[in-house]
Amino acid sequence: MQDSVTFRFRLTLSFWLLLLFAAILPSWYLCHRLYAEIRAEAKENAVLQLRFVLALMDRRPEAVQDLEHLQNWLAETGGRFNARLTYIGRNGDVLCDSHVPSAAIPNLDSFSGRPEFTQAMEHGTGTDIRKGRFDVRLQVFAAQPIPGGGAAPPAVLRVAVPAPHALELLNGLYANYLYLLAAALIVTFFLARFLSNLIRRSAEAVSRITRAVVEDDYAQRVRFHPAHEFYPLGTSVDEMTRHIAGTVQWITEEKHKLEAVLNGMQEGVMVLDAACRIQIVNRALSGVIPDAAFSLGRRPLEVLVNLELHDACLQVLSAGGEAPATPHFLQIEIGRDRVFDVTIARLDDEDGNPGAIVVFHDISNLKRLERVRQDFVANVSHELRTPLTSIKGYAETLLSDPKPDLQTEHSFLQVILKNTNHMVKMVDDLLQLARLEARAEPLKPQPVNPSDALAAAWKACFSLAEPKRVRLEDLLPKDEIRVSADYGQLVQVFRNLLENGIRYSPQESVLEVSCKVEGGKVVFSIHDNGPGIAKQHQRRVFERFYRVEKHRGTLAGSTGLGLSICRHIVENYRGRIWVRSPDPGSGGGTTFQFSLPGSDAPQDRHESEGSGHIA
Ligand code: ADP
Repeated sequence: MQDSVTFRFRLTLSFWLLLLFAAILPSWYLCHRLYAEIRAEAKENAVLQLRFVLALMDRRPEAVQDLEHLQNWLAETGGRFNARLTYIGRNGDVLCDSHVPSAAIPNLDSFSGRPEFTQAMEHGTGTDIRKGRFDVRLQVFAAQPIPGGGAAPPAVLRVAVPAPHALELLNGLYANYLYLLAAALIVTFFLARFLSNLIRRSAEAVSRITRAVVEDDYAQRVRFHPAHEFYPLGTSVDEMTRHIAGTVQWITEEKHKLEAVLNGMQEGVMVLDAACRIQIVNRALSGVIPDAAFSLGRRPLEVLVNLELHDACLQVLSAGGEAPATPHFLQIEIGRDRVFDVTIARLDDEDGNPGAIVVFHDISNLKRLERVRQDFVANVSHELRTPLTSIKGYAETLLSDPKPDLQTEHSFLQVILKNTNHMVKMVDDLLQLARLEARAEPLKPQPVNPSDALAAAWKACFSLAEPKRVRLEDLLPKDEIRVSADYGQLVQVFRNLLENGIRYSPQESVLEVSCKVEGGKVVFSIHDNGPGIAKQHQRRVFERFYRVEKHRGTLAGSTGLGLSICRHIVENYRGRIWVRSPDPGSGGGTTFQFSLPGSDAPQDRHESEGSGHIA
């Protein structure tokens, strides 16, 4: 509004100045010059006419011998020249007048105050242009003193002739000049107002479109009529809007493509600007940075709390122009167990401003597998070392000099055999575990009667149970239940659990095996009265080589792999295995439980549950 008022004021002022310099001043000057010229010429003509009358008067002395004759001569001559001739005494009293009868002359006012009379008296000739009291038209007066003659006293002769029409017109123009000027000013004021409104409306139409473009609305158009003054401006704005809309759409599509590529990447990606502030993060990085959405505009150090990474980013950003060719590599640890290979590459924009792209490649799994492999090698070496050392010792003793007696030799060979058997079992267990982990043999789940499998397993453990007089209490239904598994592998699970039960049970105790059906699965329980397993060990006993107490490892046949094998078999058949045990010493013993699907459950091979676990 303020702008439009200012614009209107400026437009009005411009119009007025234009009016002043283009019309008022020239016209005023022209009128003034014309007026002065015409006046001077009219006065000159009147003086000439006056002189002409005086010349006539000189040639007709009889006409001015007395005032009566003079009156008649003036009336006749004035009528002929269309001029008023007045004979004025030197005191200003009118003596004769061509246009006034003799009887009325004494009633006339004194002419002593008339400008032409006073000028004539003072300078010899006097002129004036004005409207007489009874005149309709403007009159030109000229007066000159004359000596008189005969009965006519010395006097001043005055001629009054009508002024030229042009002078009359100019006089009228002068009188109305101010009104004309005021009218012109008012008209130009309203013209400026009208024009400014017109321009404002057109400007508003254009600014409405630009505002819409700012608010991402590209559908609006100016739509001026082709006859409109601003039609070319309107079409240009429309064209510009269409162009911007096209460009924005292209940029949006490109952005979506880039986002799709970035978000489809498994690697986390972060883009940094010249000030080392995060500009873009992809979806994969959300798994690394908890509040990835809030990380924009912050520095890597603030969101990942890793000084090494931060320094590397700064180093890449501050490097010279050759930096883009040499990406920076480093390995960082985020959180407790996540390890990333990080690549930082320089990425300058079109204007040469430096930027960087940081790619996070998660190698936590590789690292974990590496650790597992190292642990495995260490464990196997450790497990084999004890029996091997023993074998070596006894073999050396047997070969030493003097040789031991036969009985000692026999007992030594027994020890060597026992250790060898232990190593053979361990190698067998390891091979079986490797096969289970690799799923080398295809799973062929079949309906298996668990009671048969338990009987077979117990038979295999009998030699272990007999010396301790441990009894089996088989509470499984004989024929009603079938589970979906492999018979041989189910026997193996029962056997491992029974062997542990026998191994850790006291003499003459009872091993109880029962089952229940829960939600389509059969849950088996193998309970013994042994020492039990403390809470903190319960999850870990299923790991390879894990033993609760180290001295238990010396028990015959203990490899630390049995429960791990059980877990792999059960999980391969979509089951689960766990242990329940009150605190050791409380006399509660240990209960191992595992679940397997009933044989009417779907037989498809299950890949996800527990398949990735390596104990
Ligand atoms: P091992 O061959 O040593 O028995 P397992 O994997 O079968 O290996 O068992 C791992 C460990 O779990 C054993 O060393 C033992 O410490 C503990 N354990 C297993 N079964 C029992 C049980 N019935 N009672 C007490 N501890 C047990």
